[in-house]
Amino acid sequence: MALNDVLQKIRDEEKRVGRAVGATRLVAVSKVQPLGRVVAVLDDGHRLFGENKVQEAAGKWPDLREKYNDVVLHLIGPLQTNKARQAMELFDVIETIDRPKLARTIARLAEETGHCPRLFVQVNTGEEEQKAGVMPEDVDAFLAECRDLGLRIEGLMCIPPVDEEPSLHFALLAKIAKRNGIEELSMGMSGDFERAVAQGATYVRVGSAIFGDRVYD
Ligand SMILES: *Cc1c(COP(=O)(O)O)cnc(C)c1O
Repeated sequence: MALNDVLQKIRDEEKRVGRAVGATRLVAVSKVQPLGRVVAVLDDGHRLFGENKVQEAAGKWPDLREKYNDVVLHLIGPLQTNKARQAMELFDVIETIDRPKLARTIARLAEETGHCPRLFVQVNTGEEEQKAGVMPEDVDAFLAECRDLGLRIEGLMCIPPVDEEPSLHFALLAKIAKRNGIEELSMGMSGDFERAVAQGATYVRVGSAIFGDRVYD
């Protein structure tokens, strides 16, 4: 099935570029997909999933987790501060920390509850007005701010502009991570995950290549 094709392509690319096999993990992006397709991928043994909306994930994953209790869930879409508490309960990794107000809210809730998911910072590598993420020139300062708040940022994520060569953006993200001592890199989607593997991705986020096209109604 498509899941195994994607996994195989990741492994092949890791070998081709001389990375350790298994260094890149596959986040299966299940947003908008019919439940049956998600269950099929779960029944194939896959356990790592991504969702881009808190509300949608809340309507789906608590039930699925009763049966598949070792699921790991990443939030890959923008997070409003008023949903931070719910997101911290639901997700194992929040990939989209992108502004001081959100960082402060998460730090406060982590202190209050004694629980915090793993955190990544989203970088707007294409410096696009309409897109979320910290501008490349502001990332170092933002990471310092997170550190001062007591937040441990383990990774960076980006979504390159649709009309540009993604490899350039992946390389930029890798460079920013390296100079800040950050290990995890979430980059690459259905159209470009092999190029992301070549640039050092530790997570690729793949939806339609696994599940088929999303049908919005
Ligand atoms: C939807 C989405 C993906 C997956 O996109 P595909 O092109 O279907 O692989 C990856 N990352 C983010 C942030 C997304 O919102």
